[in-house]
Amino acid sequence: MRGSAIVRKSITPNYWAIWTLEMPLYLDDAVPPSIPRAFLDVLLDGYTFFGEEAVNPAMVIGLLRERLLPLLPDVHKSLFDLRGQTSWDSLWLLYANLATASGGNDKQLMASAAVVSIFVRHTTRPPREVEFPAHLELASFARMADVLGLPKAHPHVGAQEVAAPLYAFCRYCWLPQRSRSVCENHSTNSMSRDKEGGPVCAVATHKQVQRLRPAFEKELRRLVSAEEWQFHESEFSLAVMVPPSGLGSWLKERRPALSQQLEANGRKGEVRLLPALLQVLYGDKGVDVAQAVGGSVHLLTPATARAEAWLCAWEGRASWGGQRRGAGKAAAPSRIKDTTQPNQ
Ligand SMILES: [Zn+2]
Repeated sequence: MRGSAIVRKSITPNYWAIWTLEMPLYLDDAVPPSIPRAFLDVLLDGYTFFGEEAVNPAMVIGLLRERLLPLLPDVHKSLFDLRGQTSWDSLWLLYANLATASGGNDKQLMASAAVVSIFVRHTTRPPREVEFPAHLELASFARMADVLGLPKAHPHVGAQEVAAPLYAFCRYCWLPQRSRSVCENHSTNSMSRDKEGGPVCAVATHKQVQRLRPAFEKELRRLVSAEEWQFHESEFSLAVMVPPSGLGSWLKERRPALSQQLEANGRKGEVRLLPALLQVLYGDKGVDVAQAVGGSVHLLTPATARAEAWLCAWEGRASWGGQRRGAGKAAAPSRIKDTTQPNQ
């Protein structure tokens, strides 16, 4: 191959994040994708060409532009115009854009996406954990809804004057925020309560959710990234969105913690599953949410992702051992990092 044109400059070493740790391309770690030979050759050529050398993002985009780009029709070439200095993040975005542009049908774009994802994930060992950017549950939802041709409305909950955007999430949970980025249950002055008719996260105080936040966000990133990844891997056939019917099996499969919570709560006289779910998620305001969402139940996908992540994190808090009363005590076990002030 014509290797000489490939940019081989190394980027500034960046030691603070494992994300940037550069290693050779470990093709052996990857499952060989079933893609046309010409696309597979891009991977094999990269493997041969990079050899034992640590691979950085600039080297990858150089190779992709030289070897992958000529395999695609001109109309898609602008996808490779990455802004600024090429990073693993921008290459991951290229992957997501290629996968989305393929719409699940364009074999060349799907093959290209597969090639890019292997370069991003397998140029370190163990494979690089890939994540999607901030408010990833919404970005991911929008991308997947696009592929499936589903509407992406941003519903508002409640009567007009006091309507809250469903997706303006409280920073600590899935409820719409009331003020200062938090819901009415998680503001600094709200105390622990187990309000009758309240959402399940209302049992947690401001202090508790504050402490829970790193674990919650970590779990959310893991869940959403895995889901979008599986969606792409399934060639867009995986049922990732909250379905209008078959909700029970979807919950068991895709939101197991939420499903368990729902069972634990019982249906409370509600025979239909969706209103029962909304009761768990939003308490008495579930009725308003049902109205806001209407028949488009898939719009609940991002909120249920947050709820699932929250419940997982909340259950994980048991490892704190209930020893949190003592002010300024040693930090929580490593699984859940404590970032709150030791002033409770
Ligand atoms: Zn909240």
